[in-house]
Amino acid sequence: MNEFCSCERLTHIKVEADFYTDPLWCSICGYNLDIDEFPLRELIKEKLMLWVEKYEDVLGGNFHQSSFEYELNKREYNQVGLELTEEIKKDIGHQYNISFSYV
Ligand SMILES: [Zn+2]
Repeated sequence: MNEFCSCERLTHIKVEADFYTDPLWCSICGYNLDIDEFPLRELIKEKLMLWVEKYEDVLGGNFHQSSFEYELNKREYNQVGLELTEEIKKDIGHQYNISFSYV
């Protein structure tokens, strides 16, 4: 157990959007991580939380998953997520293995 999750040591972090929660997870045990516990730039934290807030708007229940609009939103959403993941790597990629999980 470490201070972040139930693994002996946190080594792999997954960036994945979900409803109303921080988008960082331990990719080994699945614990949701608190982004404030990590030395990320404030701007990146703000962008991450805005990105999560948009999840419901662009991919929530208002869209049929087969609709073209949903498809476009999903591509754009994943693109931004990938860019944010690259930003996260700049801050803590030397400490953790960071990966992105597509919507
Ligand atoms: Zn873990």
